[in-house]
Amino acid sequence: MSFRLILTGAPGAGKGTQAGAVSEALGIPAISTGEIFRAEIANKSDIGLEAQRYISAGNLVPDTVTNEIVRRRLAQPDTVNGFLLDGYPRTLEQIEALDSMLAENDQSMDAMIVIAIPDEEVEGRLLKRAEIEGRADDTPEVIAHRVAVYHEATEPIIEAYRKRGKLVTIDGIGTIEEVRSRIVAGVKESLGIN
Ligand code: ADP
Repeated sequence: MSFRLILTGAPGAGKGTQAGAVSEALGIPAISTGEIFRAEIANKSDIGLEAQRYISAGNLVPDTVTNEIVRRRLAQPDTVNGFLLDGYPRTLEQIEALDSMLAENDQSMDAMIVIAIPDEEVEGRLLKRAEIEGRADDTPEVIAHRVAVYHEATEPIIEAYRKRGKLVTIDGIGTIEEVRSRIVAGVKESLGIN
């Protein structure tokens, strides 16, 4: 059984936390574009230096850069039996790039999971995370901008997957464990697996 899944949701919805838990539950690698960028920044690579300018302002990294990173990652052999994309695609252009990467191997995505949380939850969660993890883009100004970018750029891609009949919406309020089991159950139901 292979699962090719997208995990999305507003900043602070819990994508990173749930990506790890869900990938373990389903036995597929989790691929986070945000994490790849943070690793590139830590290594001070060319990609990292370019990405940093966008990330620290709460803007999206340009599609050409992001698509290339994903293309390279999906070429790794651990993705053959499926994968969970965390935070990608986030724009309509990224949807198209992903579709054509997969079409080269006669593949397509199975489902997009949206972890839904109210906007009012976002800021509190991210400010709390800032205290723990110290992420540079978790300041009040940058958080507000990231939420605006999410509504503008990313909500249309959720609509696109809704139209494809591949959207699974999960209530993101609850314990990590509760949300994880909702996601696993929602994915299995949408793919018709017991
Ligand atoms: P969050 O969803 O909380 O913002 P992420 O770790 O997913 O956290 O992303 C952090 C930042 O990395 C984003 O604000 C953006 O600048 C950049 N980024 C991550 N994924 C993408 C993507 N698919 N396209 C463009 N930029 C991205």
